Amino acid sequence: MKGVVELVVASGKGGVGKSTIAAALAVHLAGRGYRLAAADADAEAPNLHIVLGVEGWDEEEPYREGRVAYILDDKCTQCGVCAEVCPYGAVEVRGGRHWINPWICEGCITCSAACPVKAIRYRFNVQAGWIRLARSTGHGFPLVSGEILPGRPNSGKIVTEIKNRAKALLGGEGVLLVDAAAGIGCQVISSLTGAQLALLVVEPTPASLSDLRRVHRLAKHFGLASMIAVNKYDINPDMLGEIEEYAESEGVPILGRIPYDEAVPRAIAAGRPVTLHSPGSPAARAIEELAERIASEVLPEWRRWWAKYRPRRPEPYIPVILHPNRGVGGGGG
Ligand code: SF4
Ligand code: SF4
Repeated sequence: MKGVVELVVASGKGGVGKSTIAAALAVHLAGRGYRLAAADADAEAPNLHIVLGVEGWDEEEPYREGRVAYILDDKCTQCGVCAEVCPYGAVEVRGGRHWINPWICEGCITCSAACPVKAIRYRFNVQAGWIRLARSTGHGFPLVSGEILPGRPNSGKIVTEIKNRAKALLGGEGVLLVDAAAGIGCQVISSLTGAQLALLVVEPTPASLSDLRRVHRLAKHFGLASMIAVNKYDINPDMLGEIEEYAESEGVPILGRIPYDEAVPRAIAAGRPVTLHSPGSPAARAIEELAERIASEVLPEWRRWWAKYRPRRPEPYIPVILHPNRGVGGGGG
């Protein structure tokens, strides 16, 4: 296999078994001899290391970026303009003095532009989170993970950093397996950017199908070739039919159907991939089948696979922005 292929496991909705499948897939691909690095791209709730049973990190370093405003008390006249203009409500009054809450401040510079006496300064390269590396997960591949600190913005940027570090470990050849966050926000956008393949995990519920449509639309926008895995496929035959109809209408192959199986929560509780914890269980066998299809049908000819299943037309994408003081709006980044 030449070059690096990025395979993103995404779901739109949380709690559908994405990390369970991503962990087992990574273990299977490494066992099949693929050079692989895993990236946990859910910086707000990283858990791939738990599913893989990683107990300690070989490296851990602060992730720094952005800026946070603060007020020079000796210059401030307490006029209150900064509190009026701050779009994030980060300026508070404590003990009769204006103060900028560093957990809320987004560093947008609105306040310093408005301050009549130039009493506002910035601290740069503020610690926004952690980047962590397990050189060997015990399964023959490294894992890069990260964690954004509560209240810090730009979780998409830390995901890009996590991906870049994991990719660098491959030395130009292999599979970068990205376990994306739930939803369709900045973290998922960073996960999909630059990737070629998406494994979309869905369960047969109306909410999960709705979120599948949304994340698939995003994957199409970024030009990824998608494939689907239906988890707990047997809990709702009618909804399974709807997922199959959607997949057919969109030309997306369903590569795996995984049954509901109590072995999965037992494996999660034990901190092991289900394929290792309960190898003969129905879910483990189905996940192994899915992983083997990816190992033998998708990855050896991934460029051909991508060319066959990539979107024919770019999907227009209108991001939804939450304005702190104005509610929901469209456009922008
Ligand atoms: S705008 Fe400037 S002077 Fe007015 S309260 Fe804020 S920091 Fe103080
Ligand atoms: S930099 Fe922006 S977010 Fe931070 S206090 Fe000033 S106006 Fe508010």
